[in-house]
Amino acid sequence: MTSTKIHSTHCERTAFVYVRQSTWLQVLENRESTERQYNLRERAIELGWPASSVEVIDEDQGRSGSTATFRTGFQRLAAEVGLGKVGIVLMLEASRLARNNSDWYRLIEICGISGTLIADETAVYNPREPNDRLLLGVKGTLSEAELFTLRTRLYEGRWNKARKGLLRFPLPVGYVLAADGGWVLEPDTQVRERLSYVFDSFRHFGVVRAVVRDLRRQGLELPTRRTTKEAYGSLTWKEPTLSTVVRILHNPAYAGAYVYGRSEYFSERRSPKTGKASAHVRNVAQWPVRITEHHPAYIGWEEFVKNQEQLRQNWGHDENRGVPREGRALLQGIVYCGVCGRKMSVQNRSVKESRSPSYVCVHGYQNGEERSCQCMTSRPIDTAVAEAFLTAVSPVNVRVATQVMDQIEQELVSQRRQRELQLEQARYEARLAQRQYDSVDPSNRLVAAELERRWNEKLERVTELGRAFAQAERDAEWKLTAEERAAITGLSRDLPAIWSAETTTHQERKQLLRMAIESVQVDGSSQAGQIEVQIRWRSGTITSLSVTRTARGECPLKTSEEAVSRIHKMAPRRTYAEIATALNRAGLRSAFGRLFTSQHVGYICRRDGLAGRKPRPSSKLHDTPEAGGTAES
Ligand SMILES: [Zn+2]
Repeated sequence: MTSTKIHSTHCERTAFVYVRQSTWLQVLENRESTERQYNLRERAIELGWPASSVEVIDEDQGRSGSTATFRTGFQRLAAEVGLGKVGIVLMLEASRLARNNSDWYRLIEICGISGTLIADETAVYNPREPNDRLLLGVKGTLSEAELFTLRTRLYEGRWNKARKGLLRFPLPVGYVLAADGGWVLEPDTQVRERLSYVFDSFRHFGVVRAVVRDLRRQGLELPTRRTTKEAYGSLTWKEPTLSTVVRILHNPAYAGAYVYGRSEYFSERRSPKTGKASAHVRNVAQWPVRITEHHPAYIGWEEFVKNQEQLRQNWGHDENRGVPREGRALLQGIVYCGVCGRKMSVQNRSVKESRSPSYVCVHGYQNGEERSCQCMTSRPIDTAVAEAFLTAVSPVNVRVATQVMDQIEQELVSQRRQRELQLEQARYEARLAQRQYDSVDPSNRLVAAELERRWNEKLERVTELGRAFAQAERDAEWKLTAEERAAITGLSRDLPAIWSAETTTHQERKQLLRMAIESVQVDGSSQAGQIEVQIRWRSGTITSLSVTRTARGECPLKTSEEAVSRIHKMAPRRTYAEIATALNRAGLRSAFGRLFTSQHVGYICRRDGLAGRKPRPSSKLHDTPEAGGTAES
């Protein structure tokens, strides 16, 4: 079994067994392969490694192998190999190690430099030998081609099965799998009745929040399936929440339909954190596989479709999504509740331009609590934040900020140099310790043991510093590129003009704001009559402001004093319409910068207790004072 390629220098280093399966399903179902992979440990021992220096890396269990970016195990392996600590890497089929070719070549490269062998169940390869290297490269290429066909086959297979309604996936709560593979209703009466209750309740209230509130009031919990590894799929009961009820109402399975492909995935847009592709939910009409009357239903298909429409409508006013929208509330999507910390929604209570939208904290309310946490008009907050924003990005401030950034960058560069030197020194010391250890007479056990201990210590120090170095590199990644910097300087010069330009849309203003502001927290309940505003800038600093809260009925915008005094003068003698015309002719405008109407004038007259002359019957249609007066409230 032993190979001529293995030398004692290899055996002195660690043997790494790299175990990998693609997904948790494979991990659970493919026990045999897992066992074979763990058997490689025995093979390492047969090849001449002491059992104590065989290490198994299986951190990548349950992660997909297409790219190494999200696999910590693979990275650890590559790092250890790079440090020259590994004598041999064992894996099931050598080509399984990294299916993506670039990862694979990189590893062969690193193994070549550090003199590490690669082995599978049948052979040992030395990447320093041209023939072996060629063989490994070809294996990698073949594996990639195999992956491609495999993936296509799997994909096609899935869809074929799904079109026939045979593709299995975890059943939603309320259904169980029959012996023949069909879906039958959950035998537990309580589960069935609770689900039916939810549908009845939505039929009755038509609003999810009311359903949740009703359930909570009656102390009714909702059945759900556990998602933990140990008890996967088993039934449990949970406190009802908005999202659980929404999920139930959105699930076509309860209408007896077998559906596949509700979401569309965009593999080119992946989350940098989890590596998951971004998903888009398709409309009911666009579902690629839809088999109605596939299994017994809780509600009819028509009702399901109607519910979807209802949910969509109820949700229509919600602007609480990630992207900036058309609406006028400047902080939509980035405003958080200072009381409970949750994201606030924007509510447009009136379609009238003159009424500004409000910021409302509704999560508690949606989940059945008596009232919403807090609610406030957006205008004074928006004004204050916009002002703070324009001040912060004025050319002077930007120059100071970029200078500070330059300094930080310089510091980072010198810190990096220091770290590099430290690491280099540690590596040198480790090599030295190794040499001392190598040169000692092995029969002198006491000395050998002490030298080995020292060598180990040095190696640990190298690993530690290496880790710190990598961490620091990651931390330093926020640096601005030259283009970004130029763009910022240019923008700061033009910003005030862009901001106030009439052609600039609300959406564009929001985008500008988001360039500098991470989030805004508002607290309107700690100080009476005040709203505490905290702006969290992208740079990590925080600005605190206090905004005076507009009392009920009080107007944040005032009609100019001149206009008011003229109204006072003219009021006893002239009609509202005449006064409005006179004011407009004099070039005066309302608080919103618009032409005065008889409604405006009437509102001010009544507010100030002035008895305007009764309007003439001929102009009655336009001048009814009762109709106006709310324009500026
Ligand atoms: Zn709140």
